[in-house]
Amino acid sequence: MKVFAALAAIGAAFALTAGYAAGSTGEPFYGDPPNDHHPWAIHDQNRPQPKLVTPGTFSTPEQPGKPPSDAIILFDGKDLSHWEADKPGNVETKWVIKDGVMECTTGSGYVRTKDQIGDCQLHVEWAAPKDVKGDSQGRGNSGIFLEGAVEIQVLDNYKNETYADGFAGSVYGVSPPAANPLNAPGQWQVVDIVFRRPIFKDGKCLDPGYVTVFINGVLMQDHTQLEGGTGHKSRSKPGAFPDKGPLKLQDHGNPVRYRNIWYRELPLRAVEGGTDGPLSAEATLAKRKEIAATIRQSAAKLADPANPLPELLRLAESLVYEADAATAQKVEQMATQYLDSVKKLPADKLGSKKDDVKHLNSALQYCTKFNILPATFAPKAEVEKIIKEQHWEK
Ligand code: MG
Repeated sequence: MKVFAALAAIGAAFALTAGYAAGSTGEPFYGDPPNDHHPWAIHDQNRPQPKLVTPGTFSTPEQPGKPPSDAIILFDGKDLSHWEADKPGNVETKWVIKDGVMECTTGSGYVRTKDQIGDCQLHVEWAAPKDVKGDSQGRGNSGIFLEGAVEIQVLDNYKNETYADGFAGSVYGVSPPAANPLNAPGQWQVVDIVFRRPIFKDGKCLDPGYVTVFINGVLMQDHTQLEGGTGHKSRSKPGAFPDKGPLKLQDHGNPVRYRNIWYRELPLRAVEGGTDGPLSAEATLAKRKEIAATIRQSAAKLADPANPLPELLRLAESLVYEADAATAQKVEQMATQYLDSVKKLPADKLGSKKDDVKHLNSALQYCTKFNILPATFAPKAEVEKIIKEQHWEK
């Protein structure tokens, strides 16, 4: 009985999968077409697949987790080869490694990465000294400085109050964290940051920049808008950032420890040439042109006099992205020829063309519905006529 139930469940799962696939194959001529600000159609099969990343593992108090496969490792407990003193020239840092973790040597100054890092997903783990000394900003203070300019505060706020915009997880002096989820001093605090730098062009702000921060899995900063670099006592001033800069960790006079530091580069935003999200009319047009050209190239490879339909459909698909008179004319000519050849088939062979003809009909219906081809496009009437005559509507 159990086996039967299991088989039935598997069968149901397959049925669901098949149903899902049939309804969402994302074939061409399927979802809403590109428009003035979106170069891709809805459910567009031409859109690149997300890159494959092997996930890492989560940290435990005893052991740092494993970074995802595309992470760039800044510190894994082995050496400080990615780091130097935050001083002119390439000065070796006096921060040290003890038991596989990096520790701030107080009084030695900030440490910075040799890597230049821009927009990123950043992972950092820190621990305040177990022996509690000082209070408020004097206890377990350090800081994660994005592009060396925006401080995400590191502070032992476990049963230690201070001004809200200086708490652990604050954008220092700008935005208090939404919560205080800190573990006790000596224990590890896991910080995950998504950093989008401000983007200016010709003195004009295209994007003010944002930071999202989690500590120990709890949301601290929710896409908080940046207001320039952070500072002590002084209000931030919006302004241009370089594309990339070093990540810095602060020496604030406390031997704060760090482990498991890595980052992943983020895709470009629309304002800097990315092709996801609403784009400018110019950028959309350029991308649509590029997609159309790629499709036309792939259409040429499908050319086959014995089976013209794949090339014909692919060429029609290119028109979804770019109106091109020569291509439209070729589509018309090929469709007319194709339908003529179908009509000439003897009755017993015609049936084998049912799916192909219906496929062409769907494409032409889509193209005329969205004004990609004119409603008067001659092959459309022709294909509809064949379908009606052959009773292929269903
Ligand atoms: Mg600090």
